[in-house]
Amino acid sequence: MPAYLDYAATAPLRSVAREAWLRNADGPANPASLHGSGRRATRVLEDSRELVAQLAGARPSEVLFTSGGTESDAIALTGLYRRAESARVLVGATEHKAVLDAAAALPGAQVLVIPVDSAGAIDLAALARQLQQPAALVAIMAANNETGAVHDVAAIAALCRAAGVPWHCDAVQWPATRDLRAVAADTIAVSAHKVGGPVGVGALIVRGGTDLPVYSHGGGQEGGIRSGTVNAAGIAAFAAAWQEAAAHRENDVARIAVLRDRLAAGLAEQVPAAVVRSGPDRLVSHVHATFPGCEGDALLMLLDAAGVEVSTGSACNAGIPQPSHVLLAMGAGPEAARGSLRFSLGWASTGADVDAALAAIGPAVIRAARAGMLR
Ligand code: PLP
Repeated sequence: MPAYLDYAATAPLRSVAREAWLRNADGPANPASLHGSGRRATRVLEDSRELVAQLAGARPSEVLFTSGGTESDAIALTGLYRRAESARVLVGATEHKAVLDAAAALPGAQVLVIPVDSAGAIDLAALARQLQQPAALVAIMAANNETGAVHDVAAIAALCRAAGVPWHCDAVQWPATRDLRAVAADTIAVSAHKVGGPVGVGALIVRGGTDLPVYSHGGGQEGGIRSGTVNAAGIAAFAAAWQEAAAHRENDVARIAVLRDRLAAGLAEQVPAAVVRSGPDRLVSHVHATFPGCEGDALLMLLDAAGVEVSTGSACNAGIPQPSHVLLAMGAGPEAARGSLRFSLGWASTGADVDAALAAIGPAVIRAARAGMLR
């Protein structure tokens, strides 16, 4: 088994989630059906909705189940925009593409980017300035998927509320190690597979009074906003996974913090030139590091060959690695923005995973630096 340090991409399935899925998938289960099997599926769905609402600090009627974080972001952005009079849409510079590209696709929108500082934290003064004029919505995430940088969610909520502008928060990375009840946004995107649930399930928390228009037409499921047969078994698995994540949070966070600190210190020791980002202003799950003179993709493949699985933030375009927009927004040069890796830990991470990463990183950096940067 490889050492898996890529929980921010997807976490391993928890056994409670697997069991919940099997319990509810083994038999016909369409909550829209009126017969006994349908009513059983409805009970599973509504029990799960209650649980997710509790975990999110919301009412069950405020939970809209979706196919994941990407769809939740799209429903929120398109819905809030359609309801608004202003065409101004304020988005954080380091948002996930699910938000950035959804904002760019809004017809007639004037998308204004709120910058971040060199640590990746949102510039609250710039947000306040932009909120002096009317806006359709603000889309700023709770924590960044690539660097783990955590935004000041209380300050963002206060600024948006004072300006009367709805705040959509992509909190996909948050509930694996933090309490979502701390995020007082109008709409919140979450995803099952980041907390140890299955891929392809998520939720949009739509706080009372936020009235969203129809996103997809059809059978009228999920309050008529998102039609389509509801994935009751996947939703039950999501609720079970998140419930376990919340129940174990305190112990898990303490345990992961020890692993995180050992990983961060070890990376700095093995590669003294590396810029290692971790600590209290980031999710405990994330260690982000830049390795000067190395192509991130080359490092990733060398680590993979050594049995260590991590991520880069860069994407390949026609074979040439592209710099991460997150690091560019933090002021990094294009080469640094390509030469970075994300190590992310979670509920089943072990000391052996960290040991494997630390044993592999030195030789990988030597080989990647020898190969240099692609031009
Ligand atoms: N938003 C963030 C911050 C993410 O990290 C991800 C997943 O990588 C998504 C959105 C997309 O979520 P999903 O994979 O459930 O569509």
